[in-house]
Amino acid sequence: FRVQMAAINGEKGDVEGAVVVFHDVTDARKFDQMRSEFVANVSHELRTPLTAIKGFVETLLDGALEDKLICRRFLTIIEGENNRLTRLIDDLLTLSAIESRERKLTLKPVCLVTSIIQVMNILGPQAREKRLHLELIFNRDLPPVKADEDLVGQVLINLIDNAIKYTSPGGKIVIRVKRGGDQVFTSITDTGTGIPQESLPRLFERFYRVDKARSRELGGTGLGLAIVKHIVESHGGEVFVESELGKGSTFGFSLWVA
Ligand code: ADP
Repeated sequence: FRVQMAAINGEKGDVEGAVVVFHDVTDARKFDQMRSEFVANVSHELRTPLTAIKGFVETLLDGALEDKLICRRFLTIIEGENNRLTRLIDDLLTLSAIESRERKLTLKPVCLVTSIIQVMNILGPQAREKRLHLELIFNRDLPPVKADEDLVGQVLINLIDNAIKYTSPGGKIVIRVKRGGDQVFTSITDTGTGIPQESLPRLFERFYRVDKARSRELGGTGLGLAIVKHIVESHGGEVFVESELGKGSTFGFSLWVA
């Protein structure tokens, strides 16, 4: 608590009492703590690829340049780390733009099924490479939703990309879109690794990963779900997740009918 005190003076100027105000600063403290944690996380995430790049460049300069095969291998790793840095910065910029509301929502009626098919076309090659079966189920009389088309595309890309990343070859991904009252619910169910129950409440936090090494290996930034939550909530919708370890997960979100 921050405490403020003021004396209450009587008519003759003598002190008759006092007002003591207790300001609860818990929220402000929490916010400061979250901000420094975020900065520490970002610095760590940026430093990891930079350290790797530095190490490989130094080894090349120390003589490995002579060996063409090693040279190609190291340069490929450096390129991969560079791509990771670019993805991370792109995700950070997206997140901060949505947070600062600098990017005003361009709301219009959006057909979710069309957006999903577009994303399925973009991510199709990745799914085919893993021999994943992709299925889309929806009702014919589905109404459009009131949304920012580009941002909804980003939500779908992040969720479907995760489903593809965290599902073993030969698995199945089912996308369902259905109306419930004045809302439309989209869910993505996979037959992937699943998520331990204790991790579910933290999944949408920035940089939270169940398995850090695996996420890194798969090219993740740890920001995908935080971006999803921000976009959906800025539309007045909600995100949800259900999962069973070893069986698979369902991620979903709601949006309002246009
Ligand atoms: P990342 O870039 O690491 O994928 P996300 O924010 O998209 O970051 O997801 C956070 C974490 O949630 C992931 O690292 C992973 O552990 C878990 N996760 C997300 N989607 C799935 C899924 N479909 N199946 C299993 N785990 C998932």
